[in-house]
Amino acid sequence: MKRKINFNPGPATLPVSVLEQVAAAILSYEDTGISILELPHRSKAFKAIIEESKDLVRELCGIDNNYEIVWLHGGGRQQFCMVPANFLPSGATAAYIDSGYWAHEAMEYAQYYGSTQIVASSAPEQYTRLPQWPEAIPANAAFLHLTTNNTIYGTQWHHTPLSSVPVIADMSSDILSRKHDYSQYALFYAAAQKNLGTPGVALAVIHKDLLKTANKQLPPLLSYAAQVQQNSIVNTANVSGIYTALLMLRWIKNTGLYVIEADNLSKAALLYNVLDNSTIFKARVAETTHRSLMNVCFTATSKQHESALVALCEENNIVGIEGHRHTGGFRVSLYNALPLHDVALLAELIQAYERSI
Ligand code: PMP
Repeated sequence: MKRKINFNPGPATLPVSVLEQVAAAILSYEDTGISILELPHRSKAFKAIIEESKDLVRELCGIDNNYEIVWLHGGGRQQFCMVPANFLPSGATAAYIDSGYWAHEAMEYAQYYGSTQIVASSAPEQYTRLPQWPEAIPANAAFLHLTTNNTIYGTQWHHTPLSSVPVIADMSSDILSRKHDYSQYALFYAAAQKNLGTPGVALAVIHKDLLKTANKQLPPLLSYAAQVQQNSIVNTANVSGIYTALLMLRWIKNTGLYVIEADNLSKAALLYNVLDNSTIFKARVAETTHRSLMNVCFTATSKQHESALVALCEENNIVGIEGHRHTGGFRVSLYNALPLHDVALLAELIQAYERSI
């Protein structure tokens, strides 16, 4: 069956070469004679998958041995729980930057554990821009939580100023999409289903200094320290999901992070340029320096134009361009595995439609 051009926001398109390797491993993982779906989580073969994936994360993120790396269950939202469970002691407060839906939800999850404070918000502008970086973070804040790419509203922090308290970053929708200074974070995490593979898995990278401060009274499954100590195998790990993430990491390394970054810039520039020159479609985010390279969100001037573009996409084998239920309109996700020529096709369709009316 012909593959669709897939602009979904996550689970998202994966490189065909990765899919082929996963398909082969489902029949037999390397020379083990059993499927990756059957591979024991305490086997030597899985230990090797974990070790290679950690080495690649360290290399691609450019972080040293002061960071610990773990693969966890529960996608992004479980990190919304684990971060405050581990690092928000009673009596302290946590500072959150409210830059979109996920940023806000991360904070709501933290409120089950302790007190939180919004230190910057673009909610009054319906998240169509990034908030001003806070001038001061409360000195008693245990950490500052930041969402580097706002998947639903299409904004992205391209540079983040230094902070006086440890910064914890949700990088679910832009991890390893560009060269980046990962060492500015005390902890960063990402749900895997965008640039790192398949849903249900999350990567977390934690600085040892922060880890020393973690709550020791947690069930091991929710404790970063226990997960580090048991090398991500506190319970039965998501073997196939972590293997897929390893294949994605190898693909990123072989492609090269600079090439990926340049491609991501080209893809986003192509689409934003078409939108900025359109009289029918309009990017949600006007401020160019706030625009996401990963999720391009836009609206049409009328329902009729909106339906026409949806129909055109259907005719042309394109899926996944609908905006999130909170925003409506369109959202085109341009993660690493999405090729430039797919974006060029969408850009041509938009321009051809515009010429035809
Ligand atoms: N954070 C961000 C930035 C996201 O985009 C998402 C999901 N799209 C999440 C967290 C939540 O991830 P999950 O559905 O795996 O809980």
